[in-house]
Amino acid sequence: MHVSQILSTKGTDVHSIAPTGTVAELAAELNSRRVGALIVKDSSGAVVGIVSERDVVRGLASDASVVNAAVESIMTKDVVSIDPDFEVADLTRLMTEKRIRHVPVIDNGGVLVGLVSIGDVVKVRMDELETERAALMEYITQGG
Ligand code: AMP
Repeated sequence: MHVSQILSTKGTDVHSIAPTGTVAELAAELNSRRVGALIVKDSSGAVVGIVSERDVVRGLASDASVVNAAVESIMTKDVVSIDPDFEVADLTRLMTEKRIRHVPVIDNGGVLVGLVSIGDVVKVRMDELETERAALMEYITQGG
């Protein structure tokens, strides 16, 4: 299965914040949108980073006054992204190896077309396991 299939049900909306937004604004946005990460876009719309709740926790642990600091002071600038044809099966490995739970999807024209989270990947795997289970049950009870 390709990542584009996840986006076809989940949608292509990606919530973002400006690098100059404050960490307090970021926390409010993560909370109200019920998401774990936001894409950081500059005024031209270019992706300049990604910032997750993990960065907020790390920032607060080292200095509580970080709430008034700019998002760019805690974001990750080197964004790991994938294209829509990326295999969902390979996404688990990518997330585990890079220790990230959010991956933006960028098409070959450089356009941000979605963001997949570890929750999306787990849901796909659960659905696959349920389909396999149902097929096996049918095989066992009806003799194939
Ligand atoms: P997460 O597990 O997604 O909450 O993020 C853990 C750390 O990885 C945080 O420092 C994030 O800024 C960073 N991070 C999350 N997603 C990505 C990504 N796609 N590319 C690069 N860094 C990321």
